Amino acid sequence: MHKKTLHSLIDLINAKKITAKDVYEDLLKNIKHQDKQINAYISVFDDMECENLDGFLHGLPIAIKDNMHIKGKKTTCASKMLENFTAIFDADVVTRLKKAGASFIGKNNMDEFAMGSSTETSYFGVVKNPWDLSCIPGGSSGGSTAAVANGEAIAALGSDTGGSIRQPAALCGVVGFKPTYGRVSRYGLVAFASSLDQIGPITRDVKDAAILMNIISGKDEKDSTSANVDVPDYTQFLSRNIKGMKIGVYDKVLKDCSQAVVNSMEESIQTYKDLGCELESIDLPNTKYCISDYYIIAPAEASSNLSRYDGIKYGFRSSEYDGLLDMYKKTRSEGFGDEVKRRIMLGTYALSSGYYDAYYLKAQKLRNLIKQDFDSVFEKYDCIIMPTTPTEAFKIGEKTDPLQMYLSDIFTISANLTAIPAISIPNGISHNNLPTGLQILSDTFREDLIFKCAYAFEQEHSFYKKIPLS
Ligand code: GLN
Repeated sequence: MHKKTLHSLIDLINAKKITAKDVYEDLLKNIKHQDKQINAYISVFDDMECENLDGFLHGLPIAIKDNMHIKGKKTTCASKMLENFTAIFDADVVTRLKKAGASFIGKNNMDEFAMGSSTETSYFGVVKNPWDLSCIPGGSSGGSTAAVANGEAIAALGSDTGGSIRQPAALCGVVGFKPTYGRVSRYGLVAFASSLDQIGPITRDVKDAAILMNIISGKDEKDSTSANVDVPDYTQFLSRNIKGMKIGVYDKVLKDCSQAVVNSMEESIQTYKDLGCELESIDLPNTKYCISDYYIIAPAEASSNLSRYDGIKYGFRSSEYDGLLDMYKKTRSEGFGDEVKRRIMLGTYALSSGYYDAYYLKAQKLRNLIKQDFDSVFEKYDCIIMPTTPTEAFKIGEKTDPLQMYLSDIFTISANLTAIPAISIPNGISHNNLPTGLQILSDTFREDLIFKCAYAFEQEHSFYKKIPLS
């Protein structure tokens, strides 16, 4: 049962062939058996709790990245700073899932405060890629994608600030969806970079992503940036017939990609041609600056958001200090890991007086230029396709230079800077048995087009059936 999709399990429950409890117990068994090796979970809930067994999900368990609150459970953000922090309210996505009849199987490991691309910065240890245990699963939602790929979760929610849903989804061979900024409430998601953060589903197939998007999308009064835009039933767009769809191919970037990524992109271009789509090369001239832009904006916002961890309001406090200032200093020195400190320093510098105009303001202007590139492409095309990542999963410990690590998000970051929705779906398997991802992007609030484009492609291929479910 832990190998099935959410929608097939819903069907089996509706047909009274199984119960959610059976699925829950099967998953628990698999987690107990497998997770010492994979390390996809920070906490596992041993008892199934469901507030609405009659809901659409009938009690089926979902895994949650450990930066979203479930009332009464720990939210650690994979940081020593919040190691013992218990949430006192539900995130809006959790409230919505509960109403829809979900239970929760546990909280997934991640990069500390969602800063990273490999899940190596977690205070709770590295997560391993189920396809190859010597490789990283991607990040920062690497615990969630590894859990889904390894049969330790049916589906999960992750967060994506610069690619943290899509990049690990690509490297673990699962589906990862980042909605339009504002489509899903951020209430109860621990803030990293507030103008970029979005929550989204991590699933085994496109239909499951559409089902979870139906549940978690919509205006929330508690998040002032959540959008009051009608939410369609996304499952109605899952059709094999996408003839005439206009797709822009961002193929300029292929020269920087591994052979496996190039091969699978070439095959996917052929698939869309066979499906009767109109494909053309496009250019996004300013996206080459997206890494530099992101690494001003994201750390600036992070340095402000993370100032709340001061040893007083919540979380860890150093045990030995001499006065208030020393307490702040020791608490933050001991409570945060290296990558988090690096971001705080970068961000504080970019926002400091005299530098604001030179860095932060300039980065915001550049963000506009990148958005204009996408706006002009979407005047003519329904969707853009490009690889999710330049390479397959790399080895644990391989990237020690932070700049090299930052480059692994080169294709995902622009969707966050421009607020547009984007999905990563499995796109092939390399000769050394590692998955690659196809990224599909569309204009703001055009999740419908992405689902159409992704579903038709998925039906032509069966990569997702090969995920190494243990
Ligand atoms: N890898 C990027 C970073 O380290 C993105 C992280 C994310 O999307 N949360 O900032």
